Amino acid sequence: MIDPWGNIEISNYEKVFREFGLTKFPSNWSDKLDHYLFKRNIIIAHRDFGKIMQRIKEKKPFIQMTGIASSGKLHFGHKINLDLFKFFKSKGARTYFCIANIDGYVSRPKVKSMEEANEYAINNLAHVLAYGFTKKDVYIQTKKDKIYYSFAFEISKKITEAMFRAVYGHLDLGKAAANMLQYADILHPQLKKYEGKMPSVTSIGVDQDPHARLTRDLAKRINYNLELPSFLYFRHHGGLQKGMKMSASDPYSAVFLDDSIQDVKYKVERSFTGGKDTLKEQKKKGGNPDICKVYEFYKFHYPNDKFVIDIYSKCKKGEILCKECKEKCIAFLSSFLSKHQKKFKRYLGIARRMIL
Ligand code: SF4
Repeated sequence: MIDPWGNIEISNYEKVFREFGLTKFPSNWSDKLDHYLFKRNIIIAHRDFGKIMQRIKEKKPFIQMTGIASSGKLHFGHKINLDLFKFFKSKGARTYFCIANIDGYVSRPKVKSMEEANEYAINNLAHVLAYGFTKKDVYIQTKKDKIYYSFAFEISKKITEAMFRAVYGHLDLGKAAANMLQYADILHPQLKKYEGKMPSVTSIGVDQDPHARLTRDLAKRINYNLELPSFLYFRHHGGLQKGMKMSASDPYSAVFLDDSIQDVKYKVERSFTGGKDTLKEQKKKGGNPDICKVYEFYKFHYPNDKFVIDIYSKCKKGEILCKECKEKCIAFLSSFLSKHQKKFKRYLGIARRMIL
């Protein structure tokens, strides 16, 4: 059983795909979509994405629904979801990005009050606006209308305790309540008041698949004529240390969009690499970018494909050493963050007024 609220990096994707019936993302689709997240094998699997490929091909609209639980600060693991969101918007998606402030409070023990969840929501919203989202792309759970909430209650009638336990392995009522909203988040854009029946896509980490399976099941069983929602699955962004995913719960596993240049330097300098024990050995035998967290940053974020390919090849041949490679990574992240953080400050007041 995978824990959608857990923190452990998945090491054997093929096994998870087999167990849960996910389909590996086909390379010919990646070629057609021509976006770095597909080309670099960061989107690794899907459920029913063929419907969305067809809509893109026919230049017809489709729904894109995703979001963020307001339980922490945004880090680079979240940024890939924002990149994908912008990409689908450019392909004609009707956009629904949820700032899930209720979810952040009720499903995460570490968030002690709704006020705290709202502070995270303000921070998260200011970041996504600074990253190029418009106010129309975003909705705030606590500001949604009655239709959304009555829909969430209606969905809850279709889930039994046994079903919930079978999928998640427990019945935590806070998480159950948050889940009803998540199912409503994914399905409500197809209600008449919004877009009506329309293919939709939601992008998630592989460990979020229990939500996807249950949402698709519910879409069949509620008395609405809905398209089954499609899902895309991200490869997890590894944390800076070995074996953990990038997580807001562990500040040293992640580079946050709020981090200072000093924070970035400190974290990247101490990250796990695929370097050898001595410089002499690394020059002779090369490093191992496949296990290296610095290389992972390049792969997940560096915009220029050629640069990423070059680093990989130079690392393997021992033509670049970890010190220089880390310095380049620190320079890249610092430049990105200093530009982004200037915009972020301008959106904080707007975000506060939208949330409270
Ligand atoms: Fe990682 Fe760069 Fe060192 Fe290679 S040279 S192991 S990519 S830090």
